[in-house]
Amino acid sequence: MKLKNFTAVLLGVFLWAVCICSFSSVAEATGYIPKGEKNKASSSWKKNNTASADYQLNIGLANGVVQASVGMNSEYTVLDMASGSVLGRFKGNVLSVIIVSGNRLAINGKKVNSQSVVLKPINKLESNAVIYNGNKYRGALNVKINKSGSLLVLNNVTVDDYLMGTVPSEMSPSWSKSALEAQAVAARTYALYTKNQHSSEGYDLCTSTHCQVYSGIAKESPSTTLAVKSTQGYVMTYGGKPICAVFHSSSGGRTENAENVWGHYNPYLRSVADEDNSPNKNWTVSFTSAEMQKLLARGSKDVGAIKSVQMVNSSDRSAVVRFKGSKGTIDLSGVKLRSLCGLKSSMFTVRSGGRQIIFDGHGYGHGLGMSQYGAKAMAEKGKSWQDILKHYYTNISIDKMY
Ligand SMILES: [Zn+2]
Repeated sequence: MKLKNFTAVLLGVFLWAVCICSFSSVAEATGYIPKGEKNKASSSWKKNNTASADYQLNIGLANGVVQASVGMNSEYTVLDMASGSVLGRFKGNVLSVIIVSGNRLAINGKKVNSQSVVLKPINKLESNAVIYNGNKYRGALNVKINKSGSLLVLNNVTVDDYLMGTVPSEMSPSWSKSALEAQAVAARTYALYTKNQHSSEGYDLCTSTHCQVYSGIAKESPSTTLAVKSTQGYVMTYGGKPICAVFHSSSGGRTENAENVWGHYNPYLRSVADEDNSPNKNWTVSFTSAEMQKLLARGSKDVGAIKSVQMVNSSDRSAVVRFKGSKGTIDLSGVKLRSLCGLKSSMFTVRSGGRQIIFDGHGYGHGLGMSQYGAKAMAEKGKSWQDILKHYYTNISIDKMY
């Protein structure tokens, strides 16, 4: 491995460590739900309540900004959120610049009697879109003063309008219909499960991989929009609550048990056989002994110059690797080594070849829940989205909630 790549791995390991400590995420690289987060989403969650706020999301487009350029693609008014009084009227695609002035907002340099404003179209049309930072979104736009006196920009959308902008970032819109539908239901379930993720900051979900990548209308694709619409309201549940519907790119042939990744049991995230035809079905990465020594010292323990590497336990994905060095010995799990070395998955065997330590691995991601490439393979064989989800999430129910 070249020095540049090695530095990139170290940086990657550092960033991964930062992410895993601070966040819970559906993204494969940081797919970690802290124990305490497990049932957070369910407290305000009710069945068959179409008008319920449970199926509306406040997405934090920006928090802590000093200025927000906002607008709509058709003529609109800016209203005070509390009273509903009209603060300004603007033409379509003309942006209003909002800043904080004292303890009030100012629109285009004019102070208004409001701390929270909302944009509303003059004519309600199907094609209405709000604009922030040059991006178009469905739903409404709310700009308010946050706790620290700067601006919070919120996009209030229905769950399904949100999914239209997230699913195409998660799975290629060119994939088969039932794979896209399975992805839409997994993303819907995960959004409801994590709904209170940012409640202390005044919104539900953010737009990055920390929650789910949400890019608004520009990213939408007809096939993924259809998958969201054809599965409208369907949510995976266990014990009557939305499940933690994590997913990953490819499993390497078998998905993982939750306890092997997170350290605690989960009844529906169980290891199942999986077909892996992905580009990452097999991969190989090697490090020099000196690079490996440095990685171990940085992320675990300095065992000195490495003398031997041995697989202690190689059953399924839960490998344990023993490193013997001039200063000591250490046993590390596959999950730990994955994070330490920036490997694509924790399913690998390790060998030494000359002065190299070589990892031969399979799959990409944490291995929990649905394998996306596996879902693709099942869809191509004619399986339904329900078949796919029930294969990857053990003993779950699929309920139509709205
Ligand atoms: Zn987030």
